[in-house]
Amino acid sequence: MIPVEQAETIILGLVHPFDADRDSEVLELLDASNRVLASTVTSALDFPHWDNSAMDGYAVRYVDVQACSAESPVRLEVVETIPAGYKPQHTIEAGQAARILTGSVMPQGADTIVIQEDTQRTGDVVTVLAAPKPQAFVRRQAAFYQAGAPLLPAGLRLQAPEMAVLAAAQCAQVTVYRRPRVAILSTGDELVSINQPLQPGEIVDSNQYALASLVAQAGAMPLRLGVVRDDPEALKAAIASAIDQADIVLSSGGVSVGDYDYVEDILTALGGNIHIRAVAVKPGKPLTVATFGGEAAEGRSQLNAQTLPISYSPLSTPHSPKLYFGLPGNPVSALVTFWRFVEPALRKLSGLPEAAWKPTFVRAKTQVDLRSDGKRESYLWGQLHLVDGLYEFALAGGSHSSGNLINLAGTSGLAVVPMGQTHIDSGESIRVMQIGSPKG
Ligand code: AMP
Ligand code: MG
Repeated sequence: MIPVEQAETIILGLVHPFDADRDSEVLELLDASNRVLASTVTSALDFPHWDNSAMDGYAVRYVDVQACSAESPVRLEVVETIPAGYKPQHTIEAGQAARILTGSVMPQGADTIVIQEDTQRTGDVVTVLAAPKPQAFVRRQAAFYQAGAPLLPAGLRLQAPEMAVLAAAQCAQVTVYRRPRVAILSTGDELVSINQPLQPGEIVDSNQYALASLVAQAGAMPLRLGVVRDDPEALKAAIASAIDQADIVLSSGGVSVGDYDYVEDILTALGGNIHIRAVAVKPGKPLTVATFGGEAAEGRSQLNAQTLPISYSPLSTPHSPKLYFGLPGNPVSALVTFWRFVEPALRKLSGLPEAAWKPTFVRAKTQVDLRSDGKRESYLWGQLHLVDGLYEFALAGGSHSSGNLINLAGTSGLAVVPMGQTHIDSGESIRVMQIGSPKG
């Protein structure tokens, strides 16, 4: 049994991030929403594209109006009106001005905007009643971004603001990392699908739904491979097939030491390297982590050729091992171990920057006493609330047995009780892992 942080370090060490050439694809901009940029984007356009006005007013020559005031106003001839989308036709000469609207192109000759509140207009003449500052309200071409400089860095997830930037830069297509393929297998003779009438002793395969949803929310592609019986041959074939199809395989159940828990033996038989067998975490102790292929293991494709009708098609080079997570079966444990261990691995694989890999922990005041047996690092589920700008943690009501999943609904934080500590009093400051706030 290893400490949580050590498990995290081992897992992140096993993940090779996607390769910008091999694991990327070119997509239409809208199709790339929520994807991660695989290469730095540059634009051939300056932002602003041209000098333009930041206000409604008049484009003038500063020298013409620098000395004016309400007592000694200056009258200028208005030679044209420059609305949005219009290319100015005149050069502003001494004694002239152009009516200009916000965002419109500055005319030649003018260098300053007089806001309309400081003017009076009569026919073709504008009277300027206050001296502006030199170059007032002129947005200079390239002041925000200079053509050719990096516009957006590789590793950035494309959300609405990035969409706006890329659209404005006329990047109709973008190069993004492909979505990680994550196979999801549920193991157990007791499991039935959501539509099957329940017989005594049977349990609905809820992990399939929870994990598929977590995988999709992480921007990856869930491959739902269904339920596999507690039968060594069936499990072996299912796991081998899952490894072939996916970058990451998640199985749930069968990793404890019960009579029907075969997963670890099968992983070894399939040529996997087992890196983690148990973690000092509650819930979630029986977590298995293994790799297939890559630098670590050899001979797997040969084994597959013998056991499977499916031919081995490498999705990545030998440098990128497939990662296998054998998650505990009970739903709370499966969720907690996903949040704590799988999600960081997915984020690293996806090409996100290092700062986005690990979960976000915040300090919060606990509203109730928290209890743990002290033997493992405990994660207690509940809600994070902001009260007067400070986080407070409200423990979910009801049973915190790992067999209960009903009070998981609405979880937005996992309070951490460190190993060796058996209780934390209400009102104390604790560490809470944030759940459900998108990262990176
Ligand atoms: P196991 O790790 O296989 O011993 O399973 C531990 C507990 O989790 C048992 O009560 C199982 O019935 C339950 N369980 C296992 N797999 C699933 C699943 N896919 N969905 C819901 N409950 C499960
Ligand atoms: Mg089982």
